Amino acid sequence: MRITKINVYQIDLPLHEGTYNWSGGKSVQVFDSTVVAIETDAGVTGHGEVCPLGPVYLPAYAAGARAGIRELAPALIGRDPTQLQKLNGVMDTTLKGHPYAKSALDMACWDILGKVTGQPVCHLLGGRYGDDFVLYRAISQEAPDVMAGKVAGYKAEGYTRFQLKVGADALTDIERIHAVRDKLDPTDVLVADANTGWLMHDAMRVVSAVRDVDVYIEQPCLSYDECLSIRRHTDRPFVLDESVDSLNMLMQGHADRAMDVVNIKISKFGGLTKARQARDLCASMGVAMTIEDSWGGDIITAAISHLAHSTPTDLLFTSTDFNSYVTVDFADGAPQRAGGRLAASTAPGLGVTPLADVLGEVAFEVQ
Ligand code: MG
Repeated sequence: MRITKINVYQIDLPLHEGTYNWSGGKSVQVFDSTVVAIETDAGVTGHGEVCPLGPVYLPAYAAGARAGIRELAPALIGRDPTQLQKLNGVMDTTLKGHPYAKSALDMACWDILGKVTGQPVCHLLGGRYGDDFVLYRAISQEAPDVMAGKVAGYKAEGYTRFQLKVGADALTDIERIHAVRDKLDPTDVLVADANTGWLMHDAMRVVSAVRDVDVYIEQPCLSYDECLSIRRHTDRPFVLDESVDSLNMLMQGHADRAMDVVNIKISKFGGLTKARQARDLCASMGVAMTIEDSWGGDIITAAISHLAHSTPTDLLFTSTDFNSYVTVDFADGAPQRAGGRLAASTAPGLGVTPLADVLGEVAFEVQ
């Protein structure tokens, strides 16, 4: 089987809540997502998606994803999409770095592999654990009482895990954590994600002030070393995200006992092939994971669902259903949240069929 053509689409994904705000005054109103369709000489087409969280979250931006795909695609024409490790090697020797640009292409090839073998991608990634898996809800940064109200609303919809966007003024963040925890039951899980937004002195004030609160602290500061320093001064459970983007960082974090949970985002590692490798390393080391991506719509939510559902349940801290945050549905068969839980499709591949009329015109094609 050979890749014959790669079509690339751009799609805008507005938010139901209108805006999503996190540390440092950063926000996004409309996500700019990129969808790829990889065609083969066997008549099978696979789909992938990449959607950065705006241009200032990770070193990734939407136009950069498309530029990277334009650079990579010619090297993939004529290659076998089902030989995924080899295909990733071709991408890595064609373009150094830029993992997010490779993510949608790798994802689409997993979709093809699933379709030609008649298997849902989660089976190929290791197997399906349980009937479904647990989600978190991200709570955009607002005034403490507004965030507490939103948490109460999403709790009523069935969510049991919440990730507060903090990383602003320390006193207000302390208020946010207390206001939200007061709305939750002891069985609910609360994460305060500073998204690198605190300097060390701010982070120290926050972790001291919430030492008696049942809350996880996520990525308090910009660098790994700063986070490690805070980690060594708090007994709250600790999550690393932005500063862990490679196998080397996972191994260093584990050796330093720098985290209890780590966030595996598919595009941060460069696609499902490499995210699976990271997932399996974490599983071997006994490190629990949040499995997700930076953002996305129906295809990314499907890809997340397959990686999360194929992760041993006790090691899956939580996951995400991004397609419930955005107003545009662009694929049939995408997983839909039931309460605070999600399940991967049982159909072959990712289990999604994009809607041509919603995707619109091809942005560019390579053949
Ligand atoms: Mg995070």
